[in-house]
Amino acid sequence: MSERLEPGLYIVATPIGNLADLSRRAADILTRADVLAVEDSRVTAKLLHHIGARRPMLPYHDHNADRVRPDLIARMCTESVALVSDAGTPLISDPGYKLVREARTAGIAVTTIPGPCAAIAAITLAGLPTDRFLFAGFLPSKAKARADEIAELAKVRATLIFYESGPRLGAALAALHNGLGEREAAVAREISKTFEETVTGTLGELSTRYAETPPKGEIVIVVAPPGAPEAASEDDVDAALRDALTRLPPAKAAGEVAKATGADRRDLYARAMALKKAP
Ligand code: SAM
Repeated sequence: MSERLEPGLYIVATPIGNLADLSRRAADILTRADVLAVEDSRVTAKLLHHIGARRPMLPYHDHNADRVRPDLIARMCTESVALVSDAGTPLISDPGYKLVREARTAGIAVTTIPGPCAAIAAITLAGLPTDRFLFAGFLPSKAKARADEIAELAKVRATLIFYESGPRLGAALAALHNGLGEREAAVAREISKTFEETVTGTLGELSTRYAETPPKGEIVIVVAPPGAPEAASEDDVDAALRDALTRLPPAKAAGEVAKATGADRRDLYARAMALKKAP
């Protein structure tokens, strides 16, 4: 008989399509937990069947979470409770963060079993910068709210990641094109499943492609960050230097303008000296 799990909350990531992506550790926790808190018991039952496990399940979803949370927290004091969503990592566009917060407040041990997440899988497929990204979840479905949210995101200097569904994809891409301009983007569909596909292009190209024919399946949109600000022209740099020289000595003026324009400080110092001699 397998060893009993320590009481507490276990956050278990499950596959986003390919059942072979379930980690051994995740399968072990799902097999041994006293109870599973699940979004949809029919979906999790299939996963349990796949690993040959049978565990008691309690529904935990947007519609009953506030009501059942106190009981789940109480059970975590003496039992192991594993939280799973229908697919991927719980809490990521899925219920769970309040459960984690309240478990922490109650001094309950919280353990995560990391694994698949569609947002992370999509950014690895997109061929866009990965050093800084913002996960924006689902855009609002109403046009005005969606445009407002996109306008707010337009200023963010990071790759943007959105979740979408096939029927809404065309409208979402058109709104992104409208609000963000001609940025590079990728549409990753059915990741890890039979009909997996990633299409890349500009937002304009992708919006045209999907305007008429909404694709089937689950979708992630990845959008490149805004382009680097344009390099300041020679005239702009001279104007900034002249202005700085009215207030500062050449070395300090060069430092100030280097900070503002990104131009080389030594080149700016030489130019400042030349301007001082022949303004
Ligand atoms: N918790 C999940 C995760 O870790 O990715 C996300 C749950 S959210 C309710 C479901 C959305 O995730 C879908 O509408 C889709 O945008 C995205 N998604 C999930 N599985 C996917 C897949 N295999 N391929 C592409 N997108 C997927």
